[in-house]
Amino acid sequence: MCIANIGGTVYFWLMTSILVMVLFSVVLPEFHSDTFLMHFAFGLTLYIILEMMSNYFMCLYNRSYFESGKISSPQSAKLLSTASGGKNWDYCVPCQQYYPPRAHHCPVCKHCILKRDTHCFVIGVCLGHKNLRFFLVFTFYCSVGLFCGALFMWIYLSQSHGAIVSWQGLSYFYPVTLFQWITGSLQTRIFGLVTLVYMDMMLCVGCASQFAWHFINVLRGQTSHEADYDVVTYDQGVFQNLSEVFGRFWIIPFFLPYPLQLPSDGVHWKKPTKGY
Ligand SMILES: [Zn+2]
Ligand SMILES: [Zn+2]
Repeated sequence: MCIANIGGTVYFWLMTSILVMVLFSVVLPEFHSDTFLMHFAFGLTLYIILEMMSNYFMCLYNRSYFESGKISSPQSAKLLSTASGGKNWDYCVPCQQYYPPRAHHCPVCKHCILKRDTHCFVIGVCLGHKNLRFFLVFTFYCSVGLFCGALFMWIYLSQSHGAIVSWQGLSYFYPVTLFQWITGSLQTRIFGLVTLVYMDMMLCVGCASQFAWHFINVLRGQTSHEADYDVVTYDQGVFQNLSEVFGRFWIIPFFLPYPLQLPSDGVHWKKPTKGY
């Protein structure tokens, strides 16, 4: 396992653990004066954590490796690529095999990946034909979860320290936060929470950007690589493009992390009129 994979994975689990711990032990119990808000916040947080974790592990365990078996001679390699219906098959030197259109070799995973998108260092796996859908749902719930986390911490701070439109509200502007904490006029608890809100919001923007970038590519029938090179060969219209990634009932994976059958096997594609 490469060091970037380990770093990304440790960062994800560390941040998730800190946020969940702070929300459940400090922030949410303080909503007891409003029973509806407290139950709603507890329920929503639990649901989002469940969705995040299940899609994280589904993405990790549904790898999109392509292994055609080792090919020793150029003749048999050519036979395989032709027999598999491909004019656009290329040869991967590290894997010693021909790989189908849209697949690429990942130097981190050390495998050819079907419909390779990008390598995700947070999950430590390549995103491809089988698991891009889980990554999309994962980033969607991460964005929503981080937004809700920041909102709940914000409500807590407003109730326990002071509203933003007040003298106490100055403590929420980071240079002031840091200055007040160093000079001892701000409690460490409040300083920690304000710092966490800023980190939470930055991560939220990062996750939402990842979701938006990949989702727009899905709507256009492109991988990130194809979007970079403006390849539109596989665009079959918005709804069919969604089905190619999520399955026929493409809304279901947003609620249930179940691997619905996909129209393509990841090797053969409709409209592969040209290679790239
Ligand atoms: Zn390869
Ligand atoms: Zn990879």
